[in-house]
Parts: sequence; C-alpha cells; structure tokens
Amino acid sequence: MSASNFDLAVIGAGPGGYIAAIRAAQLGMKTACIEKETLLGGTCLRVGCIPSKAILESTWQYANARGHLSAHGVTAENVSFDLAAAMKRKADIVLGLASGVEALFGKNGITRFQGTGRLSAPGTVTVSSEDGETDIRAEHIIIATGSSPAPLKGVEIDGELVGTSTEALSYDSIPERLAVIGAGYIGLELGSAWARLGTEVTVLEYLPRILPGMDTELAKEARKVLEKQGLRFVLQARVTGVTRQGSGALVHIEGADDVACDRVLVAVGRTPNTEGLGLAEAGVTTDEKGGIAVDDSFATSVPGVYAIGDVIRGPMLAHKAEEEGVACVELIATGYGHVNYDAIPGVVYTHPEIASVGRTEDELKEGGVKYRKGSYPFRANSRSRALGETQGFVKMLADSKTDRVLGVHIIGPDAGHLIAEAAAAIEFGASSEDIARTSHAHPTLSEAVKEAALAVDGRALNM
Ligand code: FAD
Ligand code: AMP
Repeated sequence: MSASNFDLAVIGAGPGGYIAAIRAAQLGMKTACIEKETLLGGTCLRVGCIPSKAILESTWQYANARGHLSAHGVTAENVSFDLAAAMKRKADIVLGLASGVEALFGKNGITRFQGTGRLSAPGTVTVSSEDGETDIRAEHIIIATGSSPAPLKGVEIDGELVGTSTEALSYDSIPERLAVIGAGYIGLELGSAWARLGTEVTVLEYLPRILPGMDTELAKEARKVLEKQGLRFVLQARVTGVTRQGSGALVHIEGADDVACDRVLVAVGRTPNTEGLGLAEAGVTTDEKGGIAVDDSFATSVPGVYAIGDVIRGPMLAHKAEEEGVACVELIATGYGHVNYDAIPGVVYTHPEIASVGRTEDELKEGGVKYRKGSYPFRANSRSRALGETQGFVKMLADSKTDRVLGVHIIGPDAGHLIAEAAAAIEFGASSEDIARTSHAHPTLSEAVKEAALAVDGRALNM
C-alpha cells in the first residue's frame, strides 16, 4: 500500500468525472481519477448514450433503406441487416472514444487509477483492485460514481431473458417479441431500435402517459408517431412480475392480461451508485432518493468531499454531469462556478427526435406563470418537405409580460440539434422576439424555430 498526494481525486470516469478531472488539470491542480472499469467514459460511453446512438443509427439506416428510399426513386433490393456487424461497429465506436478519453488524460497529466475507490479516512481514497490496495491522499475529493439500472420489485434480472438497457444494447439475435417495462427515454429509444428490425415491441407503462416529465403535448405526439412505427403501448399497466414460459416469458400486469414475449427489457429508471463508497462511515449523508446530498456548490456534508452527476439530484443526463463537473472544480479552484438548470436540454433519440429545454407547459400552468405560446408544424417548413420528414412541431413558451423564452419543446427532424438554439436563447435570457428577428438560413429546419417564435406573437409568416 503506497500513498500518493493529489490536489484532487475524482472517483468515477464518466462524463461528470472525466470532464471534472480535465478542467481541474487545466486549472493547475494535480489530479487523480479512479475508475473501476477498464474503459474510461462511464455508463454514457460504455453502455449508455454512445452505444445506444450507434445502434439507433444502424437500425435507422436499415429501416430507411427498406421503407423510405423508394419515395426518392431509389430502389434498394434484398436489403438485409447484419446484427453482428452493427454490434461490432458499435463496439469499435465505444473503444475509439474510450481511448480518446485515455489520450485526454495523458495530454492533461491526469493520473489514472484502475480499481474501486472508497472514502477510507479524511482526505483519503483507498483504491482496491486485483493487485491490492492503494491509498490516495487528496485535499479535495469529487464523487462521480454515476448510476445503475433501477431494479423492479418482483422482477429478477437474469441478464438473459430479463435484462436492462445494458443487455438490450447487445442482444445477439433479434427478438421476435420484446416487452419493455417503462416508457421513459431509454425504453423508447431501445424499443424503437428493435422495432425497426422487425421485433414486436410492447411498452408497458405504469402512468397514463409516456415520457413522464416531458411536455404533455410533446409526449402525446410522440406516442402517435411511435405507434405508427409499430410500437404498442399499454398504459396504466403496473408490472408485478415476470415468469418463464417455455423459452420466453410472461409479464404480469396488475388487473390486466399477461403479455407474452421472448425478451424483457426493464427500463424503470436508474439509481445512484452509492454502495461500497464508505459514505456512512465518512459521514456523507444521502438524500430521500438515495443519492448523495449536496448543496448548491456540490459540497456534501463532509468538508472537502463533493459529488456531481447521476449520483446527485437532478436529471440523469451526461451533459448535466459535465456542467456540474466543470462548475464544481471551478468553485473549488476559484470560488466561482454555476450550472443553469433551466437551460439543460433533454433529447430522446427516436425518429423523429424529441427535445425539450426549460419549463413545460404543464409546469407553467401549475406554477401560475402567465405565458404566451407559439407552435409551428414541420409540415409547413420547406426543408422538412424536401427531406420527407414532416411529422411534429416546435412549441415555444414565453413569459406573457417580459416575452422571455421559458421553454421550447420540439418533436421533429433533428430536434436534438435544433434544441441547441433554444438552450442558448434561455441561457442568454432571450425573448421570443429576439429569435423571431434573428436571420435563420433558408431552407433549414431551424426556420421552424423562428416561425414558432413569430407564432408566440401571432405572426408566423409561413402558416
Ligand atoms: P457514469 O457515466 O455512470 O460514470 C460513473 C463511473 O463511475 C462509471 O464508469 C463507474 O464504473 C465508475 N464507478 C462507480 N463506482 C465506482 C467506484 N467506487 N470506484 C471507481 N469507479 C467507480 N444521457 C444523455 O445525456 N444522453 C443520452 O443520449 C443518454 N443515453 C443513455 C442511454 C442509456 C441506455 C443509458 C443507460 C443512459 C443514457 N444517458 C444519456 C444517461 C447518461 O449515461 C448518464 O447521465 C451519465 O453517464 C452520467 O454521468 P456520470 O459521470 O454521473 O456517471
Ligand atoms: P425513467 O425514469 O424516465 O427512465 O422512466 C421509467 C418509467 O418506468 C416511468 O415512466 C415509470 O412510471 C415506469 N415504471 C416504473 N415502475 C413500473 C412498473 N412496475 N410497471 C410499469 N412501469 C413502471
């Protein structure tokens, strides 16, 4: 057991942890990062954002070749899908990006420790690995241990018949029938991907709606669009258990018929990774959701110990974790640092994409905020027509007195990219009039954002 001294030790090398480590190194801190997995990059890179987007892209290319190219006069015959090739492509992308993070660590002089970290004494992280234990002394410690798939009572995850997103990103054959438990973004993205390959997908959701937390109007449109793509939704369905039936499974729903399937994907949310960190012994308190409790500066109940990302409150998103990593380190190093939680976009990478930033209409109503609303359908946008992607709309919500943009909700082609303008608008405190008077290139999808801004004042031009 040897001891090393650092200014900062970061536990976890996901988007929160590795970005925090890089920012700390930029600010001149001697930085260590402890990661238990061989690959750097966390859930996001290994079994989250990146592999899911790789699979979504491959399956979309296939669906597009089969279903949509003919409209362009392109004949694609005998189109087939090689699952193993798509999985290899996905794995190569993950490996390439993980080695990129490793290179960034090298470039920034960050010391990487491979093993499981825990708080063992004040200012000390003990790293356990096959090779034994190493103590790291650090003036500041950031916990960025992320989250894991939440279990569902009564449902045993065996990793074969019943799995989580991790397994659903790596099935070795295309299931005939897939039951997805939970209609959050992970369930919808992975459900869509497999449906494109011919899987009969049934999404079971406890609530009377899909995409809880997102704008209701957006979620309703999403449901319509996804149903057209063949996804079946059973809402108000509380799953109570899964039993084996032959080589498949029966999913039991309270007060309703069982759903028979060949694979089950449990996608009922994620839980913060707090176990084995020595939190209780160190005096670090947790919150009511089981995450690490932090104040506005990401400080935990123990001086010198901070936490960021999925392991604390707030949306479990990679870019949220990154913003917190930067702000936390800047607060430590300079005393200044801030995350604007009103300007964190959320994107669901279905086809079309679904993207939101700021307040939903439901939240504004509940909060008694007076607002004006402008909507613009993609079918009226010339570029959407040229693309043949006319589903969906842009909805902008602005304060009725100040006209400040409060929320933007988009379902439609490239919504994930389009939402960036709305996030920037909210970040800069822009009004809908500011967006309406900004020149947007023609013909682009972004003109739909401008038209929605004009529609806030009842003066959309192309509608
Ligand atoms: P993580 O990425 O979970 O990283 C934590 C790291 O800490 C892990 O590598 C873990 O191995 C390590 N660790 C844990 N405990 C210890 C320990 N004791 N010692 C050492 N190391 C430890 N978000 C988006 O923004 N966009 C998306 O498109 C998106 N898609 C997703 C798709 C799926 C299928 C899933 C599951 C998630 C997706 N997410 C997406 C969410 C995103 O992955 C997380 O919000 C993000 O990874 C959180 O970052 P983090 O740094 O807090 O934690
Ligand atoms: P998210 O937290 O966004 O990943 O979404 C998880 C979804 O799973 C939520 O919409 C929950 O309502 C849903 N859910 C949780 N428990 C159950 C259950 N027992 N049966 C069906 N859906 C569930």
